[in-house]
Amino acid sequence: MTQYIPVTTCHDCGLLQQISHMPEDGAVKCCRCAATLRKRERVKPEKSIEHTLALVITALVLLAISNAFPIVQVDAEGHEMASTLFGCVKYLFTHDMVFLAGLVFLTTIGAPLIQLTGLLYILLPLNFKRIPPFAPQIYRLVRIITSWSMLEVLMLGILVSVVKLSAMATVAPSIALWSFALLMIVIAAILNDVDKEMLWGLISPDTKGRDTQQYKSGVQLTNCHNCHLIQALSAEHTSSCPRCMADVHWRKPDSLNRCTALVIAATVLYIPANLLPVMVVSSMGKTEGDTIISGVMYLATNGDLPLAIILFIASICVPTIKLVILYLLLITVHFKSQWRPKERTQLYRLTEFIGRWSMVDIYVDTLMAAMIQIQGLIVIEVGVGAVAFGAVVVLTILAAKAFDPRLIWDGMEKEK
Ligand SMILES: [Zn+2]
Ligand SMILES: [Zn+2]
Repeated sequence: MTQYIPVTTCHDCGLLQQISHMPEDGAVKCCRCAATLRKRERVKPEKSIEHTLALVITALVLLAISNAFPIVQVDAEGHEMASTLFGCVKYLFTHDMVFLAGLVFLTTIGAPLIQLTGLLYILLPLNFKRIPPFAPQIYRLVRIITSWSMLEVLMLGILVSVVKLSAMATVAPSIALWSFALLMIVIAAILNDVDKEMLWGLISPDTKGRDTQQYKSGVQLTNCHNCHLIQALSAEHTSSCPRCMADVHWRKPDSLNRCTALVIAATVLYIPANLLPVMVVSSMGKTEGDTIISGVMYLATNGDLPLAIILFIASICVPTIKLVILYLLLITVHFKSQWRPKERTQLYRLTEFIGRWSMVDIYVDTLMAAMIQIQGLIVIEVGVGAVAFGAVVVLTILAAKAFDPRLIWDGMEKEK
């Protein structure tokens, strides 16, 4: 019997390669750019479904608790205030900040809810050896929405808000705060627990083993962007993935143009995001606006140096570094530069990893404004700068998603 060796193409550099040995609990890395090609988890495959299902149910219970109770209870001058996460979203919505309300809702409630219910829909029947209808499409949605779930960033935002609030009031953490912390850990465990290749094999048995079949030489092979199934492309360099139904392209279509447009839009909005106030405080008849920079300076000069450093990195360094890297990648790819392709690919991965952390400022502003509303004494509102800043964060995340890192390596190959 002929034994076929699995083949795959690297999602970051496009190199076609064989996986001759899969370590039991390790990761296989690309031999050219060191991207992780396959990862196998420590849990035994037959136990894996049951294990992940238990974690998903736990996470859903924690998500319900986190949203049912106020995040913190604030007592300022005898005025007691508390707000749930949904209360914060409602605050933004009723104050004409629909974009921010949508963004906060999507990243903290909507995305985790869709991610967890989607996994429950797939894993519960699988546990009883059944495949639910539309399982590949649902799993595809789960994988797309997962990148928009930002609970770990929200957790940092809550901690920063608690420290800031405790300077002006007595703050008591509630059950929802602990529940959020646990939820963050359980979701990280779920992401680490799911053996994606095994799950795809179970929900789409027809396509199982396709990575080990023999392809004629000269056929253009590529992996699906979503489920990573290897497939041959048509003469037009496109196909529809037989496993998750996503459109598969040789390279992301119009990658450079889309990425350039998004980066320019983000750069334009970066100016009002830094010049306009992100938070407006009205106290004793005086109204004062705080920009991102003045907020950080205020914290630094008032003895909250660790907090000032966190916000400086998340709100000033991260968006700036991200824009600089994206410009560097766009320019070098446009001129087909041969300069350090591996390092440029690593820079691309860095932009994907750090982008979400800028959301901290949005969460802090929202929580502070939703909590501190004592008419006649002190009222905090979210400033219009926060809307521009939120748009910068979203646009840079979309720009990084639009960029195809394989273009870095295409320039190298054509020159040879
Ligand atoms: Zn690679
Ligand atoms: Zn696919």
